[in-house]
Amino acid sequence: MVTCPTCGTRINSPVKTSSVLGDIRKDGSFSESTVGIYECGKCSSKFPHVLGRLKLEIIKSKELQKLHQDLDMAVSLNEKLTADNEKLSTESDDVKRQVELTALEGKVASLNSEVISLRKGMSIAEDEIDHGIYSRTLVS
Ligand SMILES: [Zn+2]
Repeated sequence: MVTCPTCGTRINSPVKTSSVLGDIRKDGSFSESTVGIYECGKCSSKFPHVLGRLKLEIIKSKELQKLHQDLDMAVSLNEKLTADNEKLSTESDDVKRQVELTALEGKVASLNSEVISLRKGMSIAEDEIDHGIYSRTLVS
């Protein structure tokens, strides 16, 4: 919605739009403006109104080519890093499992030695029973 500069009437849409290129600055940048031409339905005055402006830049095709190459390299590096990261996370899971396994093996070993010492205790007790040391308590 644009207002007529002559009579202040609100106008919805332009009669036509066109692109206008600005002057090229020293750094190679320039602007492209989209300009709408409006016609007032009340006073018939025609006037332009800038609808949008893009900042553009002239770049040597060699520089653009290098930028594309850099971008391609960055993309493939990113892919490699992502793959490495997944591999590391899998390896990390393996290490965790290994640590758990080692802890379990330690438990098994300590249970084994407990079983061995219990068996020794049992065989000592059986020996003592055989030799009548506990016979009284067993009889009574
Ligand atoms: Zn007007």
